[in-house]
Amino acid sequence: MKVLILNCGSSSIKYKLYDDDQQLAEGLLEKIGTAQAQLNHTVARRKKLVSVHEILEHHAGVELILTVLVDPEKGVLASIEDIQAVGHRVVHGAESFSESTLITPEVVAKIEECIDIAPLHNPPNLAGIYAISQLLPRVPQVAVFDTAFHQTMPDKAFMYAIPYVFYARNHIRKYGFHGISHYYVSHEAAAMLGRTVDELKLITCHLGNGSSVTAVDHGRSVDTSMGFTPLEGLPMGTRCGDIDPAVPLYIMGKEELNLQQINALLNKHSGVLGISGISNDFRALQEESDKGDKRATLALEVFCYRLKKYIGSYIAAMNGVDAIVFTGGIGENSEVVREMVVKDMEFLGVELDADKNRAKKRGEAADISKPSSRIKVLVIPTNEELVIARDTRRIVAAN
Ligand code: ADP
Repeated sequence: MKVLILNCGSSSIKYKLYDDDQQLAEGLLEKIGTAQAQLNHTVARRKKLVSVHEILEHHAGVELILTVLVDPEKGVLASIEDIQAVGHRVVHGAESFSESTLITPEVVAKIEECIDIAPLHNPPNLAGIYAISQLLPRVPQVAVFDTAFHQTMPDKAFMYAIPYVFYARNHIRKYGFHGISHYYVSHEAAAMLGRTVDELKLITCHLGNGSSVTAVDHGRSVDTSMGFTPLEGLPMGTRCGDIDPAVPLYIMGKEELNLQQINALLNKHSGVLGISGISNDFRALQEESDKGDKRATLALEVFCYRLKKYIGSYIAAMNGVDAIVFTGGIGENSEVVREMVVKDMEFLGVELDADKNRAKKRGEAADISKPSSRIKVLVIPTNEELVIARDTRRIVAAN
């Protein structure tokens, strides 16, 4: 079955076209809303194509992607009718969605209701759904949610200690994100260990521009570091993560900042960028740290120390763990971060094999723990689009 996957952000659309599990094409359309929108389109075993277009909104962006997919030279499809289903990544499903679902008018209405708590993410996701409804009206669509995997969290894990009325009336609670990735790597980890996910306790660390860590107990997310929004939890590239909630109030008073300014400060100017003053990119931080920059080193240390503390707390929450899994751009590629996070945990039974950690090749999965390590340390490249493609096929075939 040929399935198109769309991941629509505020000014970008990522796409992948699959035939069953085989990827036929992928691309990224950036700078939507401008006359210089850039399309990077890649077909397996062919050169990447770059083109610039005036694309003022998502509908035109989706139309361009469909046109490129059937282009006699750049495309991979004989006809647009070949697309049998479309799968969308949808960021927020709140408590309405605990699994992927066929998109119906009722489902669209519920995703629209979630705009209130996901004002930045759900509108572009919906724009992609509306565009496909108009451009390919007969093609079934499936929504795969970033929050759904975490809907198994018990209330003691998702409830904030503020007046209950804010949960009951305003739906304020921990939701968690990156669920598609945590789900994928937990299943891949089980396969690597020759077990099934429902026999294992896992801690999955998705470390990218946004980072989160999840306790996966017998296949179910029982706690995760991101919260009501993706701002909670680990410090990230530019997000502050966990912080005394009095700090933003204090800064707002001192610096006379309004809500938008404090929001930008915590989301865009904090994290490892804020500490280092250099970059949100861990490659640049590593380079500067190697050259002796103290604040770059401090940023890396804060990041790794906070992740170590989350791992410790999730081991306590689950009464043990079988494996710690690293994924995302940083988790997959930074041997230094992985080493800093799991070192000095021998007392728990975590024994890193430094040679295997260093030798791990880009794009490969690996067990980087010693054979004697009671708790395994795994690196697994994530593949969120594959999860969306598989869920889309399964749900469309069943309906
Ligand atoms: P996103 O969260 O946007 O999907 P990724 O998971 O691709 O992002 O992660 C991107 C981040 O991965 C970059 O900002 C960079 O910090 C980090 N990264 C990529 N390659 C390396 C590397 N070789 N060493 C350290 N960090 C890396």
